[in-house]
Amino acid sequence: MSSPLHARGLAALAAGLAKREFSSVELTRHLLGRLEAAQPQLNAMISITGEAALAAAARADGAIAGGKAGPLTGLPIVHKDIFCTEGVRTSCGSRMLDNFVSPYDATVVAKLKAAGTVMLGKTNMDEFAMGSSNETSWYGPVKNPWNTAMVPGGSSGGSAAAVAARLAPAATATDTGGSIRQPAALSGVTGLKPTYGRVSRYGMIAFASSLDQAGVIAASAEDCALLLGAMAGFDPRDSTSVDAPVPDYVAGLAAPTKGLRVGIVKEFFDQGLDAQNEQQLRATFEVFRKLGATLVDVSLPNVGLSVPTYYVVAPAECSSNLARFDGVRFGHRCENPQDLLDLYRRSRGEGFGAEVKRRIMTGTYVLSAGYYDAYYLKAQQVRQLISADFARVFERVDVLAGPTSPTPAFALGAKTADPVTMYLNDIYTIGANLAGVPALSVPCGFVNDLPVGLQLIGPHFSEAKLLAAAHAFQRETDWHTRTPGAWQ
Ligand code: GLN
Repeated sequence: MSSPLHARGLAALAAGLAKREFSSVELTRHLLGRLEAAQPQLNAMISITGEAALAAAARADGAIAGGKAGPLTGLPIVHKDIFCTEGVRTSCGSRMLDNFVSPYDATVVAKLKAAGTVMLGKTNMDEFAMGSSNETSWYGPVKNPWNTAMVPGGSSGGSAAAVAARLAPAATATDTGGSIRQPAALSGVTGLKPTYGRVSRYGMIAFASSLDQAGVIAASAEDCALLLGAMAGFDPRDSTSVDAPVPDYVAGLAAPTKGLRVGIVKEFFDQGLDAQNEQQLRATFEVFRKLGATLVDVSLPNVGLSVPTYYVVAPAECSSNLARFDGVRFGHRCENPQDLLDLYRRSRGEGFGAEVKRRIMTGTYVLSAGYYDAYYLKAQQVRQLISADFARVFERVDVLAGPTSPTPAFALGAKTADPVTMYLNDIYTIGANLAGVPALSVPCGFVNDLPVGLQLIGPHFSEAKLLAAAHAFQRETDWHTRTPGAWQ
């Protein structure tokens, strides 16, 4: 018997559509039903756009029938609610944008639309992508499909949970300090953060512009490769997007692992790493050895400074980016403002949640005249040292391997009272953002019945290499095929 539609990945669904085993409308209807049914338990979505999805699916079926289909035509996906979608609410998880209907599509959305994908809806996320647990969303927390008492990770928790529960085969997501990889790890799915500049940021609501990067979450590296190929590329509307050719990531999956030099980062096996998680990782490294890779011990001496560096740079940039939400041009406006200052104060005071306000205040402080040199400038210098560590190590190895997150998923509410404990979740992921290099997370085992992730980091524009290594690992193991009992 063939597996149910929701259990199949993008590549398998594309094959089924091509063979007319089912139509895109049938597939879309099936997944919309699952999304609606899961919403009370998981809260993975902010918007479900059923009507538009069915219309897009019907158009895709027409293209397939007319022999005009591309590799993604008719495949349903969900978009993180940080991407502007024409005619559809784009909230960024915030009360501030609860009433914002975007007049245009983000480049990522436009490209995937042009490729024939069907958007099922917009995923829940931490407010303005600030968080590691999806608990800062104005729309309430997302629950982890493996155990609904646990967080799914964040800030792309809705995207990760939707893929983990097989409500959608793939999702877009963004990663400023770990928001693709950490939720992918905690939810047991595969997530890739590309090189800074590989994917356009146009129409992606800005958090920290020098760190933000769009990427994908799917069940497998193969599916990530399929989607990334359609998203990546130069965009004249994003001045930081890089004009470099986009390789065929799917064809690249066949690259051999034999001879791959895998660096094991000493600093990632510190006291913060859960002991059982470490055991799983060590077993994973053996799989790579078996596949012909060479394991090399390496060190990133300054990577331990990533979290404090990030928490100066990211808030600084966010305080500037979020200044545009003033109650005049976008989103929430307070009732009956007395004067202009009152309008600003109350609109922002009501529209933003506590974590966003904390970041804006920190950012304004570190950028203020008396403190700029002591904090912002210093953080930029340390960022340079961290980048140099990565550059140096990539002269000796092809990829780096280590944990994605220090522990498996934690309980809802467990870390909300202490922001620093929450920030430490990204201790292994932030370095890649500061250096602008690509990194991915693949499921590599379970601790206390909760998934844990292996992180692979590569030099700039090595997405194909990372995906090939992850794909080779997924051909040897079946962690990525496991799905939570309630959602099979
Ligand atoms: N958890 C980190 C933060 O809160 C990273 C978020 C992200 O990557 N968007 O800033």
